[in-house]
This record gives sequence, structure tokens and C-alpha cells, in this order.
Amino acid sequence: MTILVIAEHDNKVLAPATLNTVAAAAKIGGDIHVLVAGQGAGAVAEAAAKIAGVSKVLNADNAAYAHQLPENVAPLVAELGKSYSHILAAATSNGKNILPRVAAQLDVDQISEIISVESADTFKRPIYAGNAIATVQSNASVKVITVRATGFDPVAAEGGSATVEAVAAAHDAGTSSFVGEELAKSDRPELTAAKIVVSGGRGMQNGDNFKHLYALADKLGAAVGASRAAVDAGFVPNDMQVGQTGKIVAPQLYIAVGISGAIQHLAGMKDSKVIVAINKDEEAPIFQVADYGLVADLFEAVPELEKLV
Ligand SMILES: Cc1cc2nc3c(=O)[nH]c(=O)nc-3n(C[C@H](O)[C@H](O)[C@H](O)COP(=O)(O)OP(=O)(O)OC[C@H]3O[C@@H](n4cnc5c(N)ncnc54)[C@H](O)[C@@H]3O)c2cc1C
Repeated sequence: MTILVIAEHDNKVLAPATLNTVAAAAKIGGDIHVLVAGQGAGAVAEAAAKIAGVSKVLNADNAAYAHQLPENVAPLVAELGKSYSHILAAATSNGKNILPRVAAQLDVDQISEIISVESADTFKRPIYAGNAIATVQSNASVKVITVRATGFDPVAAEGGSATVEAVAAAHDAGTSSFVGEELAKSDRPELTAAKIVVSGGRGMQNGDNFKHLYALADKLGAAVGASRAAVDAGFVPNDMQVGQTGKIVAPQLYIAVGISGAIQHLAGMKDSKVIVAINKDEEAPIFQVADYGLVADLFEAVPELEKLV
């Protein structure tokens, strides 16, 4: 069995989610190859070659892959992937953009967002916003799988010494072109990789009040997240949303401030190691999943907490 893992990267840096995806591949067992599709991403290929457990890195360096447009990357993955038993990518925006197209081109079903590997053909994945866990067995010739990063502890980024092989194949579907991107700039850790996350909900009342959370987060070295209600109300941008239709996080510590604890929010954070909730309503459902709950007005509790940190 040989498994192909699609590297998550920005042509410069290998994203940590790749390490979790390799961990899932290691659970399946067999040889692990990593595909770096990009342009000028030599440093990423080198980093991928150092990942513990990886035996080969395929470096597809081409202008067609510069922005990882799924229309171009999917045919590459489908072409290379035919000779693999499994194709894995992290269930990130990129992974979720590319792999369904790969599955369609290989005429197999995709197995989405696995959280555990039972055997080489059987996997567990959450359904109904994480309220039930389905066990899925696949007899597809090539198993095309997205991996929920929080389900797998990352493998070591160092320790491997894989060979790096250039891939010449260039697929330019010519159906899409890259126009531009606006990246949110922040000195805080990335939400899905942060060890501590402080999230605010509708109880924050407006975007300006998030300054209380930013101040606390900066002292804790934390990322700041939000509920969908806070995003929909325009308090903060939607890349901060945690939940079923936002990001899935599982930090060491999750502090939910002015968040009621709707199931769709819990779907994105209930695997956090320690959950702290600050809410003025003692009946708020968030307290059912919280390890520590503070029934208090957040506008008093958060500044007080920040002073103590
Ligand atoms: C298909 C679907 C997908 C969804 N996806 C997501 C998702 O990905 N993420 C997500 O978060 N939601 C999602 N939702 C929305 C979800 O159902 C809830 O509406 C949302 O999570 C509520 O956000 P909230 O807790 O901030 O707001 P509310 O439910 O309005 O809760 C606000 C809380 O703040 C407390 N509060 C108010 N003032 C203060 C104060 N001064 N001090 C302390 N506490 C205070 C209140 O007691 C209350 O508990 C989804 C819904 C659907 C239908």
C-alpha cells in the first residue's frame, strides 16, 4: 500500500495540517508519499521531505499550480493518484476544494473529514454536526479521503529523509484564472493551530467590544475566534468563525465569551481539552460542555481576567 498525501502550503511554508494528515496516513499503514503542487515551492518540498515517516516527496512545480487552483491541481492528483491505494488531504478550504474533484475524476466516492482510522478501508467520521459518528467502509480502488486535523496528533516535522522527485506533468485546465487575494493579517496564532482560543459571541454586542478579547488573547498568546452570530452581525470577519460552518478547533484551552453554546458552535470546539465559559445566563447550554463556567457579565469578567493574567 502506498498513500499519497497532498501538502497544504502557500509556496513558502508547509502548513501544520499536513503533519496531522501524514499522521492519519501512518495509521492506515504503508509507504507515504507527499505531493507538493505549487510554484517555486522548493522550501516546502524540503520541509515535507523531513517529515517523520514520509519516504518520497513529489514536487510538481509549475505556473499552473502557483495558486493551487483546484481545476488545475485536481487532474494532477487524479493522474498521479491512480497508482496509490489512498489519497489524503487535510479538510481545509484547499483540501475540500481539490479532493471532491479528484474523487469525481477517479469515479470513486470521497470519504470526508475522517477523525479516526479503524483499518485500511474503514474510517470514522462525524455526521449531524458531530452528534453522531459514522463508521464508513469503502471498497473503492483508490480511497480519496479528507482528514479532520484535530482528530490526529501531528507527526514530527523533523526526522525523515525522503527523496524529492520532480513531477513534470502540467495541467492547465484553462477554465479559471487567479485574480487576487486578500489575506487577513494578524500577529496572533492561526485559529486552527493555536493552543489557546478566546472566542466571542453575540453577547459582545459589537465589533469594537472585541478589543477586550484581543487584549486578553494577546496576554495569553491566543487566537481569537467567534460564533456565527457575531460574524453574521458584522462584528468580526468570517475567517474567525468557529463551528459547523466555520473552523474546527481543538486547542488546549477554549474560552467562550458571550456564546450560548448552540450545537453548531459546539461542533467546532467541543473537542477542546479544557473549555471555559463566561456567560451571564446560568442556563446557557455552553455550561453543559464547559469544564469551568463563570456566570458573570463579560464586560466585568473579561477585563478583570485580563488584569490577572
Ligand atoms: C446550518 C447552520 C450552521 C451553523 N453554523 C454555525 C457555526 O459554524 N458556528 C456558530 O457559532 N454558529 C453556527 N450556527 C448558528 C447557531 O445556531 C447559533 O445561532 C449561534 O452559534 C449563536 O451564536 P451566539 O452564541 O454568539 O449567540 P446567542 O445564541 O444569541 O448567544 C449569546 C449569548 O451571550 C450571552 N450574553 C449576552 N450578553 C452578555 C454579557 N454582557 N455577559 C455575558 N454573557 C452575555 C447570552 O446569555 C447568550 O447566551 C449555525 C446555524 C445553522 C442553522
